[in-house]
Amino acid sequence: MKTLHELLIENEGKGIAIGHFNMGDLSSLKAIVGAARKLGLPVIVGVSEGERDYVGLRNAVSLVRGFRDEYHLPIFLNADHTHSFEKIKQAVAAGFDSVLFDGGKLPWAENIRETKRVVDYVRRASPGTIVEGELGYIGSSSEIRDSIPDGAAIKPSEFTSPEEAKKFVTLTGIDMLAPSVGNIHGMFENAPEPELDIRRIDLIKKAVKVPLVLHGASGNTDKNIRDAIRAGIGIVHFSTELRVAWRKGLEEELKRNPKEVAPHRLLAPAEEEMRQVVLNKFKLFQA
Ligand SMILES: [Zn+2]
Repeated sequence: MKTLHELLIENEGKGIAIGHFNMGDLSSLKAIVGAARKLGLPVIVGVSEGERDYVGLRNAVSLVRGFRDEYHLPIFLNADHTHSFEKIKQAVAAGFDSVLFDGGKLPWAENIRETKRVVDYVRRASPGTIVEGELGYIGSSSEIRDSIPDGAAIKPSEFTSPEEAKKFVTLTGIDMLAPSVGNIHGMFENAPEPELDIRRIDLIKKAVKVPLVLHGASGNTDKNIRDAIRAGIGIVHFSTELRVAWRKGLEEELKRNPKEVAPHRLLAPAEEEMRQVVLNKFKLFQA
């Protein structure tokens, strides 16, 4: 089976992306795997620091490996938004396929220093693990928002510039870059999602030689995401839309069956709601 890095390199320049979906519990993992299995496509399962604490670091690795072996599917596990060196070390030791060191909120020099420290460590400790770095702040939590998170880049003048991106990749040695290009974590309650800056993605992709990762794609239109992939995005992250589907499926089932107490029956409709979300997103990833 190909590694995640091999798949990403193979996809370069073809207008193809790999989907990254967050696992909050077993029902969301089953939904992600079910969709990938149906279409026979590779997929990345992400766990944030909070999700890792809930699922358990080693459990996340065992679960993903279990499904990978059972169905012979390229399913990978990513340590999403990791804010400390210590937590990177734990994820690498547990056997994650990739780690995201998120220094997006740090000042420029500190982000470079800390990201490079992570890259140097991972190269020594586990050369097969890939490292993603983040440049520009896009808000942290995958939630329903009523306003733009404090400090997040929303104006083109605040987005990641191609020159900065090039310097950042060269100085840190990262394998993948998450830029700020109009994307925001979470979804807006009563307002349209800001548009992604497609031209900016195109310019950054021309300036750096590594795959680009688009975070916070929940709420963006299919066309906007498709255009972003054509412009050079190699991985697209979705989390909030899955969480919304989970809650909708669960709430409806609780109403339908007020006396039901078996978790596997109560959670089945939530899993199906999430599986449909993932299947719909998968349509955007192929050229
Ligand atoms: Zn993210």
